[in-house]
Amino acid sequence: MMQLSVPLNFIGFIYREIRQGLTDIEQMFDLLDVPQEVVDKPDAKPLAIANGKVEFRDVHFAYDAARPILKGISFTVPAGKTVAIVGPSGAGKSTISRLLYRFYDIQQGAILIDGQDVRDVTQKSLRAVIGMVPQDTVLFNDTIAYNIRYGRVDASEAEVEEAAELAQIAHFIEALPDGYETMVGERGLKLSGGEKQRVAIARTILKAPPILILDEATSALDTHTEQEIQTSLDLVSRGRTTIVIAHRLSTIIRADEIIVLRDGLIAERGSHTHLLKEKGLYAQMWDRQREATEAEERLRIARESD
Ligand code: ATP
Repeated sequence: MMQLSVPLNFIGFIYREIRQGLTDIEQMFDLLDVPQEVVDKPDAKPLAIANGKVEFRDVHFAYDAARPILKGISFTVPAGKTVAIVGPSGAGKSTISRLLYRFYDIQQGAILIDGQDVRDVTQKSLRAVIGMVPQDTVLFNDTIAYNIRYGRVDASEAEVEEAAELAQIAHFIEALPDGYETMVGERGLKLSGGEKQRVAIARTILKAPPILILDEATSALDTHTEQEIQTSLDLVSRGRTTIVIAHRLSTIIRADEIIVLRDGLIAERGSHTHLLKEKGLYAQMWDRQREATEAEERLRIARESD
């Protein structure tokens, strides 16, 4: 009995120490809902950001060796430009954003930012230059101000409010009895998908990163909310290197390049107009979405005239 209790106490002690030290990191990973699988190289240097060019060079990746997800993907996002990634569900779109953030290491190829391999730089410096607006933002059980300020902890009250304004969520917050001091999250006020996404946008506006990943929500938002979110996303991505993981094709018409992923490879690439002319997978996806939107619209008009 004695033999067992000592190591258990010791493990308990170590666990508490680690928990204390890692609270922030843990919170961040809880927030992003991903495991921490990679470690810095002993000689890892901070990323030296020049203008934020992103490059995927023949990237191969599998979560599990038996099932490759990316089978040789190459593309470049020039500094300040926007590349949109589209493709069927499960094609590996969100995986691309996780790899740029280096939540996992790739099996072959390279991912470079301003010519530096993401495996050679510290994770802290890498993540400092990338802003991520995820599909589903998980909020901390804290105030709405805290949740926005998480983007830059030393931001002033005025800066938090300005970010909320730009993300088009300030009116909503100001109408709450406790305003910015309202508790949100699991144990507080539950926000809708669109509201949570706007908190994430406000957070990213405060962080002002040179590189931005927008992972669009799959969940349907009403047209008005979608337009509002689109306006704030356009604003935050202006002049920044942006990768949009797109589910709604209407939001990426103006992307500098659209990449269509299928079965782990790039099936098509080019501008919206070019891809429509190609009459391939993208053109089919576009037609299907247009038909679905038109059907929804007819249904709405029919309901309103009842
Ligand atoms: P969607 O449009 O539905 O969001 P996606 O193209 O973004 O899909 P990913 O999330 O990149 O797809 O996932 C690609 C594939 O990898 C899927 O088949 C998924 O089940 C698998 N996958 C994703 N995350 C993991 C993980 N942590 N472990 C194992 N497999 C995973």
